[in-house]
Amino acid sequence: MRWNNLAENPATTGEAALFGTDAVTTRTFDTPEFRGITFHEVRARSILNRVPGASRMPFEWTVNPYRGCTHACVYCFARKTHTYLDLDTGLDFDSQIIVKINAPELLRGQLASSRWQGAHIAMGTNVDCYQRAEGRYRLMPGIIAALRDRANPFSILTKGTLILRDLDLLVQAAEVTDVGISVSVGFTDQELWRTVEPGTPSPERRLDVVRTLTDHGIGCGVLMAPVVPFLGDSPDQLRATVRAIAVSGATSVTPLVLHLRPGAREWFMAWLAEHHPHLVRRYERLYAEGAYAPKWYQRRITRQVHELATEFGIGPSGPGVRRRVPMPAEPEPPGPTQLTLL
Ligand code: SF4
Repeated sequence: MRWNNLAENPATTGEAALFGTDAVTTRTFDTPEFRGITFHEVRARSILNRVPGASRMPFEWTVNPYRGCTHACVYCFARKTHTYLDLDTGLDFDSQIIVKINAPELLRGQLASSRWQGAHIAMGTNVDCYQRAEGRYRLMPGIIAALRDRANPFSILTKGTLILRDLDLLVQAAEVTDVGISVSVGFTDQELWRTVEPGTPSPERRLDVVRTLTDHGIGCGVLMAPVVPFLGDSPDQLRATVRAIAVSGATSVTPLVLHLRPGAREWFMAWLAEHHPHLVRRYERLYAEGAYAPKWYQRRITRQVHELATEFGIGPSGPGVRRRVPMPAEPEPPGPTQLTLL
């Protein structure tokens, strides 16, 4: 693997290596939840990443303690970033996980720098910081504590129910700074969930997270992503999803249609050919122009979701959005890590 000459963000750190070869410790754990997964523990040299092209994003800085994601969503467009490590965008992305074990201490140090101006920091914008690995490595408590102690505003986007482990810390942070949490739930269809997001907690459990956070005074929005064409976009499916989101107490719902960038596209289309071969041609036509579904389709979904949100009493632009809930962004070739996820 290409561990050297990897800048976390070449735009801000030059060609400084992110990991030294000596610093990599590879581990496997023989427990059911980690079987087949290899962890590569590294000591990162920087943890605050400046977002290239931040003008298009609602945030400028990110923190990403992991690379790769055991949630293994077939459509994940962070997949592309694994190629910067000479790992593949398919099974390697799901099972070869890079862990920046010094992330909390590194962040605490960088936040204390006189050059740091206290800008908003988004997490979960590359890969999920509450994926299963976090249950073992417990990096997020130290990260949240560092942000709390500096009263530094931040946001987290996740599919991981593990975030509730850190509820007390989140509540403490919200008492001193702006904390925005968003949970990603694109659909509630069980069959679709099991096949396209095989490593994630169920949509119901994710919505339980929304409910619990809200009950504890932390407003939580839902990024309704991805809306999957022809598989999760029927009027009944959209209705069921928005209703469930509303019942959870979410402060907002923001729909986002599936996009298929290189790295994710090949993996998703192979999955589609296996599970829904009759849809392959329709997808090729819908995504004929590139990574995004046509504007007319995106507008239709957005309008339907907004109408349903109004009907069920939640807004598309509620407090969660105003609090800079992180949104997915494009990978930044040739850099290795920047913004990717849902
Ligand atoms: S979409 Fe998010 S949760 Fe799913 S694999 Fe990618 S980073 Fe992980």
